[in-house]
Amino acid sequence: METKKYKFGTKAIHAGVEPDSATGAIMTPIYQTSTYKQEKVGQNKGYAYSRTLNPTRHALENALAELENAKYGACFGSGLAAIDAVLKMFNPGDEIITTDDLYGGSYRIFTTIYAKFGIQFHFIKMNDLSDLEKKINDKTKLIWIETPSNPMMNIIDIKAVAKIAKKSNVMLGVDNTFATPYLQTPIDLGADLVMHSVTKYLGGHSDVVMGAIVTDDKKIADEIYRIQNSSGAVTGPMDSFLVLRGIKTLHLRMQRHCENGEKLAYFLNDHPKVDKVYWPGFEDHPNHDIAKKQMLGFGGMISFSLKGNDMKDAHSIMGKFKVFTLAESLGGVESLTCHPVTMTHGALPKEIRDEAGIVDSLIRLSVGVEDAEDLINDLKQALA
Ligand SMILES: *Cc1c(COP(=O)(O)O)cnc(C)c1O
Repeated sequence: METKKYKFGTKAIHAGVEPDSATGAIMTPIYQTSTYKQEKVGQNKGYAYSRTLNPTRHALENALAELENAKYGACFGSGLAAIDAVLKMFNPGDEIITTDDLYGGSYRIFTTIYAKFGIQFHFIKMNDLSDLEKKINDKTKLIWIETPSNPMMNIIDIKAVAKIAKKSNVMLGVDNTFATPYLQTPIDLGADLVMHSVTKYLGGHSDVVMGAIVTDDKKIADEIYRIQNSSGAVTGPMDSFLVLRGIKTLHLRMQRHCENGEKLAYFLNDHPKVDKVYWPGFEDHPNHDIAKKQMLGFGGMISFSLKGNDMKDAHSIMGKFKVFTLAESLGGVESLTCHPVTMTHGALPKEIRDEAGIVDSLIRLSVGVEDAEDLINDLKQALA
């Protein structure tokens, strides 16, 4: 259903999906098929082979595009496969400017795969944008940002970066995994494309690994579809179905993630063993005003460090959690905790980690949608 004129909750439920034309089924069927009968040579119903397009995946691609207020969506086998497709648009000699505290896997694909093919990456701070324009030259083709960033919850002013990118004729890509389109829609702020690790909040139930790219630009979309079909890192119909189901409650889940996140952030901030709490909702967060302007809420991701900054203390606390589960990933209904230095951000060299504030005692929480009181009590007993 076309949902442009509706509000987010209505979009989350109806975007991209129509009752099935064959049976009237409300839920989009799982079209578990690799190929499609052709009426005669050169004539089909829009689907010829499932690498190129599959109806379940197609419904999800349309849904994600609509949620981001854009026209085109493409789904991939993982968030990194989506980033891989973005990078394949560029050529040896091209330069990409990105942030110094990005997702560890993004850092790894940049530096160990695409650097080898002659793309040059610059890692800079973008909490303030004074460095950005100086780094741009004729070879710069892409600015790639995450906001809020992982795991330091830095906030980047998407609109301001988009302005600089436009002026310099450079593409702007935003990894919108942490915020989700419920909290922010980068295309509306001037981004050229948005990428998601659908694995996280969009899927929302820790049962799928998937990525997506959304854009409003026909030229970029054509390139992405060409790469999607040529390189073939697509997602399957069953996983597409699970995410179609997941996004129907995205707004409800995000509301609770935000409420719980706020309660836990304030609890941690007052705790005597906690050194720093990173959460964009605090008024003294360096870019709180920008977060307030570009986001509907502050999300359920929190990082905090311990007084004394001892890795052993962090590991001991994490061993005591009963409701929080020690695991990589984030964005599911269940609360998870991870230790960035030894888990998600192991791929980042220590100098870069220290620069970015990813210290040894840093603990990251993905606050789920359980009852906040139980989560606070779990933190209390683990920190005691
Ligand atoms: C998880 C994650 C990715 C990578 O996505 P996968 O689905 O794990 O491949 C990229 N960016 C961010 C911010 C992530 O959290």
